[in-house]
Amino acid sequence: MKPFIDVHPESDFSIQNLPYGIFSTNANPSPRVGTRLGDFVIDLAALDAENLFGRQYGFFDDSSLNRFMESGRAVWQEIRQRLTDILSSSNSQIKDDAVIPVSEVQMHLPVNVGDYTDFYASREHAANVGTMFRGKENALMPNWLHLPVGYHGRASSVVLSGADIVRPRGQVKPKDAPLEFTSSRQLDFELEMGFFVGTGNSLSEPINVENAHEHIFGMVLLNDWSARDIQAWEYQPLGPFLAKNFATSISPWVVTMDALEPFRVPGPKQDPAPLPYLGAAPARGVDITLEVNLQSSGMDAPQVISRSNMKYLYWSMEQMLAHHTITGCNMRAGDLCGTGTISGPTDDSYGSLLELTWRGEKPLKLTSGEERKFLQDGDMVTMKGYCQGDGYRVGFGEVTGRILPALK
Ligand code: MN
Repeated sequence: MKPFIDVHPESDFSIQNLPYGIFSTNANPSPRVGTRLGDFVIDLAALDAENLFGRQYGFFDDSSLNRFMESGRAVWQEIRQRLTDILSSSNSQIKDDAVIPVSEVQMHLPVNVGDYTDFYASREHAANVGTMFRGKENALMPNWLHLPVGYHGRASSVVLSGADIVRPRGQVKPKDAPLEFTSSRQLDFELEMGFFVGTGNSLSEPINVENAHEHIFGMVLLNDWSARDIQAWEYQPLGPFLAKNFATSISPWVVTMDALEPFRVPGPKQDPAPLPYLGAAPARGVDITLEVNLQSSGMDAPQVISRSNMKYLYWSMEQMLAHHTITGCNMRAGDLCGTGTISGPTDDSYGSLLELTWRGEKPLKLTSGEERKFLQDGDMVTMKGYCQGDGYRVGFGEVTGRILPALK
């Protein structure tokens, strides 16, 4: 497969990828659907208007992917197949004005997110945090190996990569000191992936784990910003609340499950075997190389502070969706699920500062000579991820955000 424009083998956006996003340009400020190929954005609304798909879809003019996502898997696959043909070198019918250098586009939030749920699917992450707070013997709660733990988050504060993050304020109760109202001193990131529901389910009709993959449209990088000091005081007994509701950043390009299919791998062995509604072993992961970069305002360049991989996750996305809906809870097109922090087995593969610095006990050394226990004002966190194919990549680009001082 060769595209009609040159794509570097290390570009995240090969012709095997073809992710979807919402963009606009100065020349045409209406947000609309595009795909990405190398350093160019292809205007799908323009292709649809030129009738290059063989039939007209109508939803590429929309300012979100929701109607496209709702159209269902058969249509997703038909469009991907047609796009592959249109964008291949032997078959270029595209007019120049539908091919836009990425430097000339403005990206927008790709999906109108209806509901957002965050899971806790990494055994390494859950064990690390549990060890810190409850000791090694009680690291995993008794339910953890039996169900994908999660909580209902806030869709309203899901923001696009590049948005600044204002340090939150709240109640903090330091050990051996009085309760105070303060700006968070333990602001953290969480390295996660997000997946979007394409087709949902009717109320009271659960999604079967065997068909769950057909409901998932695609994935993005996700940073679940977390205020650890606010979290520590508020989280019992109902779980995270204000510590995580102020911002969740996502990357702009939604990489489809069809593009990710060649990179699916067996997940970790699940022992004890989950209940039958969570599916027969093995659950399927995705081999996505992930990294976290940190750049303080005093640094000239970002520094890699963690390398992890989506494949480490204990629970699969299909299990998360089956579990989420087993009560009959209805998912809708555009719903977002976070995987939970993706930590690997080694201490340089942890997906949060909480773990990398072991709750601040082992500060990170930055190339500027500074130390970090938690994020400081001006710090920029950038996460990247890609799947490595034979001579090509299917990547996610990046999700980035910079910390601004708390409001006075
Ligand atoms: Mn999280």
